[in-house]
Amino acid sequence: MKSISFFGASGTVTGSCYQLNKNYEPYFLIDFGMYQGTKEVESLNRVPVPFQPSKLKAVLLTHAHLDHCGRLPMLYQMGYKGKIYMTEPTLDLMGIVLHDAAKIARESEDTIPLYTEDEVDYVMEQAEIIEYDQTFHLDGFDITYRDAGHIMGAASIELNDTHTTTQTRKIVFSGDIGNWPHNMMSDPYLFTEEDVVVMESTYGGRMHPHEDTKELMQKEVNAIESSGGALLIPAFAIERTQEVLYLLKQLKDSAKIKAQTPIFLDSPMGIHTTEVYLRYGALYNDNFHDVISRGNPFEFTGLHVLERKKQGHAIEAVHGPKVIIAGSGMMTGGRIVSHAVQYLPITSTRILFVGYQGEETMGRAIEEGAQSIRINDQNVSIRATVSRIDSLSAHADESQLLKWLKPIQGVHQVFLTHGEDTARDALEQAILANVGDMTIKKPQRNDEVLLKLNSRSYPEL
Ligand SMILES: [Zn+2]
Repeated sequence: MKSISFFGASGTVTGSCYQLNKNYEPYFLIDFGMYQGTKEVESLNRVPVPFQPSKLKAVLLTHAHLDHCGRLPMLYQMGYKGKIYMTEPTLDLMGIVLHDAAKIARESEDTIPLYTEDEVDYVMEQAEIIEYDQTFHLDGFDITYRDAGHIMGAASIELNDTHTTTQTRKIVFSGDIGNWPHNMMSDPYLFTEEDVVVMESTYGGRMHPHEDTKELMQKEVNAIESSGGALLIPAFAIERTQEVLYLLKQLKDSAKIKAQTPIFLDSPMGIHTTEVYLRYGALYNDNFHDVISRGNPFEFTGLHVLERKKQGHAIEAVHGPKVIIAGSGMMTGGRIVSHAVQYLPITSTRILFVGYQGEETMGRAIEEGAQSIRINDQNVSIRATVSRIDSLSAHADESQLLKWLKPIQGVHQVFLTHGEDTARDALEQAILANVGDMTIKKPQRNDEVLLKLNSRSYPEL
C-alpha cells in the first residue's frame, strides 16, 4: 500500500470517504458518506470529487449511517458500476436510509436532489454481502470485516496487502466504534496487530457520563403520568429508537411505569429499522441474544405503532399522559416537528433528548433554552420542560477509543478522522500520554498521505 487519500470526515465529523492507493493507482474506496450539519458543511456534497470512481477496484462500506453511505448513489452516477462490499444488516439498513434521503430530497422545495430513488435501487444491486470474521480476497488483499459494536451490521475493516514485503501491509479502518458495554450490541472487535490505523475521533476529549438511563427514563415517564402531559422523545431511527423502546419495555415489565400509559412510535423509518433489528438476533451480545430469543424486546403493553401519517391524529385523540417517540433525532424534519407545534406550548409537556443535537438544528435551539422557535412560518412558544439523557451514545468516548487502540501492536502511523479538530487534538494528546509514542496525523480534506515503509520483516512470498 502506498498512500491514503482522505476525501471526507477529515476535519469534519461527517462525509466519511477514504481511498487506498497502491502503485500510484486507486484501489479501494472506504465509505462515501453524506456531509451533514450546517449549510456550509452540507454544500460539500455538491463539490465535484477529486477522484475517478470508474477506476476503483471496489468500494468497502463500514455501516449504514448516512454520513458513511449517503453519497453512494452519486458514485453510480459518476460511473462506478463495481461491487460495494457490506454486511447483510448494513444492506437492509442502507436501503431504508438511502430511500428516506432520496424521498426527503424529492419532497424538498429548496434543494435539487443529489440522486433519485431509482439510483438508490441501482446501488442496492451493487451490494456484495460479507460475513463478519470471514476473510475474503480481492486484488491481492485479504480483507476482513469485524463487528465494530456501533449499530447493527457496523464493521471495522482490516486490509492485508499480502503481496508486499516493503510497503505497509496491514491497515485497519475503524469505521465508527461502539459505546461498550452496551445493552444490546456486542463489544467491538479488538485488533491485535496493524501497521496503520485509521480511526474515528468523534468523542476525543469527552467522556460519557455514568448515569442510570433506566432511572432517568422512569422519572420522565412518571412525571407525565402524574401531570397528564405528553412526553416527546425525538429519536434517531437506527439504534436509538430500539434502545428507547427496550428501556420502556423493561420499565413496563417491572411496573416502574404504568402498563396503561400509551407509548406511540410515530416513525416509519424507526418501525422499519426495528424490523431489521429483530432479524439479526445472533449478532447481539449474549445477554440481549437471550432476551430476543424469549420474545420481541421492542414490543409491550400500551405500545402503538403508527406507520401511516394520517394515524397521527390518533395521538391527539388520546387525553392524559402519553409518550411520543418520533424522528428526526435532531428535529430537522420528520413527524416530531408537528408534535412540537402541538405540544411544546403546553406547560405539562416534557421533551427528552436522547442524542446529540447538532449546531443550527431545532433540537439544539430547544436544548439551549429557546423561549420560542419558528416552525413552518409560525412562532411556537416553548413552555415544555426540557431534559436529556447523555449516555445513550452509539459512539465510544475517549477512554473507550484508547481501550480500542491500546491492544494493537506494531502501529507506526495513526490517522485520526471523523472528528472536529478540537476532538482530534484532544485524542492525539490522550494517545501519546496513554498508549505510547507513535506518529499521529490529522489529515485535512483531499490530503493524500504516503504510508511509511515497513519497519517489521515479513516473510518473502
Ligand atoms: Zn455511525
